[in-house]
Amino acid sequence: MKRRPLIAGNWKMHKTVPETLAYIEAFKSLVAGVEDRDIMLAPPFTSLDAAERALEGTNIYLGAQNCHWADEGAFTGEISPKMLADIGVTYVIIGHSERRHIFGETDKVIRQKIEAVLKYDLIPILCIGETLEEREAGKTLKVLETQLKEGLKGFSVADLKSLVVAYEPVWAIGTGKTATPEQAEEAHAFVRKILAEMFNQEFADNLRILYGGSVKPENVVGLMARPDIDGALVGGASLKPDVFAKIVCFGRME
Ligand code: PEP
Repeated sequence: MKRRPLIAGNWKMHKTVPETLAYIEAFKSLVAGVEDRDIMLAPPFTSLDAAERALEGTNIYLGAQNCHWADEGAFTGEISPKMLADIGVTYVIIGHSERRHIFGETDKVIRQKIEAVLKYDLIPILCIGETLEEREAGKTLKVLETQLKEGLKGFSVADLKSLVVAYEPVWAIGTGKTATPEQAEEAHAFVRKILAEMFNQEFADNLRILYGGSVKPENVVGLMARPDIDGALVGGASLKPDVFAKIVCFGRME
C-alpha cells in the first residue's frame, strides 16, 4: 500500500497579502520539482485570492482553514465552501482543535461542514485529537473513535473518497511537545482500524492520515517513517518558507 504523502501548512491568523506573496515567491522555488508528494498551504481567508494567483503553475495546492456549512445566508463573518471553490481552493481544514476548543465547534457542526465541503468537490481534512486531560485519563482512543463516528456519520465510501484525516493531539499543538513516533503511530493505526470497521478495509487502506503537533524539520523523518503516518499538518513551522520547505522535502537527497 503506497499512499501519496501530503505535507500541509496551516498559517492560522498570520500574514497579510504582501507577506503571503513574499512567502510564496521564496517557497515555490524551494519546492520546485518536488513531485512525489502533495504540498498544501492554508493562508488566512484574506490572502486566499492573492495566493491562488501566485500559486498558479506551481506544485502547491491551496487550502482554507475553515468554512461555514451553508452556501450563503445571514451568517455575519462567515465564508462558505461555495465561495472557496469559486476562488480555486482545493483543501479545507475542518474541526481544527482551535475551532473545537476556542470557538466551540461540535462534532455535529463538523459533520455539517464536511458535507458542505464535499458538495463543492473540495477535499476535507478532518482534524481529531485528544486533550492532555483525556490522554492522562486513558481516554485517547475513545475520544478519537467518537470524533470519527460523529464527524463522519451517514456518509458513504463514495462520498468520502477524497477525505484526509489529521490526528492532532491537542497537547502537542503549538506547545513544542511532539507526540513520539510510537504514540502517533498507535493513534494512526487505531484511526485506520476504526475507519475499516465504519466503511471497509480498502477505504481505510487508501485514506491519508496526517500527524499534526509541533512538526519540525528535526522530527519529521522519524514520524514519516511510521507505516500509518502519511503526512503532516504543520502550524508554527510552516510560517517560514525555508523551514517549511525542509519539512516538505523530508527524506530527499540534499
Ligand atoms: C496545527 O495548527 O495544526 C499545528 C499542528 O500547529 P503546530 O505545528 O504549531 O503545533
